[in-house]
Formats: sequence, structure tokens, C-alpha cells
Amino acid sequence: MTRPRTRSTGTTAPPPAVRTPREHIRAVKTCTACSLHTERMTPVVGDGPIDARLVVVAAIPRRHEDLQGRALAGAGRNVLDSALMSAGLVPAEVRVTSVMRCRPLDDREPTSDEVRACNAHLREELAMLSPEVIVSLGAFATSVLLGRPVPFERVAGYRLDVLQGVTLVPTYHPRDAVRGDPQAASALRRDLAVARAVLDGRMKTGAQALADLRSRLVADG
Ligand code: SF4
Repeated sequence: MTRPRTRSTGTTAPPPAVRTPREHIRAVKTCTACSLHTERMTPVVGDGPIDARLVVVAAIPRRHEDLQGRALAGAGRNVLDSALMSAGLVPAEVRVTSVMRCRPLDDREPTSDEVRACNAHLREELAMLSPEVIVSLGAFATSVLLGRPVPFERVAGYRLDVLQGVTLVPTYHPRDAVRGDPQAASALRRDLAVARAVLDGRMKTGAQALADLRSRLVADG
């Protein structure tokens, strides 16, 4: 049986600070830090190993994710898993999580206060996982991870440096491929291949790529 959705204002208290994976999951599942807790059916918790070297960060739960409590489910998850395998990665070895943990009613955009409240869960999970590479799915997740709005098309597929040494590779959201965007599926495979190359040491990390760029700019005067 599912709980009926209701609207209420909720509270504005930040999520509590926690340290272990079990505490983190409990904190997300019981979170009332923003009004979305009254709109969701199942809060999303990350799935995949806690020692994963690669973490994929999705954006906002939709119907399938809300029903299953997974960061990415349904056709979008199938597209992601297929792209991971195309890039030579094993889906079961990759952690998949989400910026937002509760689905907004009518799939509205979350407010900035809701994003800020939920970002605390993401930051905590990433601190707990300590991944080497993060792949962000779409403009929303990329902007939240970078802490500022970005022109998504200009950063997709590039290696950026976030969280003091973690390589961020922004790519398209698998839902874009499901909706028929011809660019999205191929870009997703291409960008996951970049992530794998960084993990394998065949490509420079985001921090190294940034250092190279700065040296070139200095050399060019
Ligand atoms: S959206 Fe995030 S911050 Fe808001 S209630 Fe759900 S888990 Fe808590």
C-alpha cells in the first residue's frame, strides 16, 4: 500500500549530520528538512557499493524513482546501465545517487531552499564515499555539484575539478535519450568512456587538466 500524497509547508531545519552509511540512509528516509517530504512516496537513497570509485549523480526523482526509492529507475536506468557497459564499466560496481531525494508533486522544479536542504545529503554521501570520479547527469545535477549555474552544453564531456580533487564529468541525463534526443545516448557513452579513462589513468584528472590549462594561459601571457 502506498501513502497518499499531501501538501504541507514542512520545516526548514537542515538534515542532521551523520557519519556511517546506515545513519545516512536512515537520515534520508526520515528526513523532513523541506516540504517535499510530504509530497514523496519513497525517498531516494543511493544504490551501489560504498567503496565505488565512480559515482553517478542523477537529478530529481520522477515516478519510477519515487516508487522504487532508487536514484534512477525504469527506462532511464536501463539506458545508463547499457552506456556503462559500452564504456567497459560494470554497473554493479558503480554507485548511483541523486541530488534530490523526494519527488515534487506534479514533477515541479524544486525551490532553491529545497535544493539547498537536500544538497546536504548529497555532500554527506559523497564525503562518505570518497569517489575518484563523479559523473553528473544533466544541467541540474552539474550546477548543484559545481555550486553555480553553468552552460551545460559547454561543459558536457569535460573533466572538471570538484570537492578538492574529485574529477567531475558532466553528461546528458539518460531520460534525454529515452525521450529521443539523438545526441544524448552517444554523449552518455562518450562521457562514461572519459570517466573510465580517468579511473584507468589513461586520461588526466580534472585537477591535472585544470593545472595544464592554467600553465598554458600563463605561457601564452
Ligand atoms: S527533498 Fe531532501 S531535504 Fe527535502 S525532505 Fe526530501 S530528503 Fe529531506
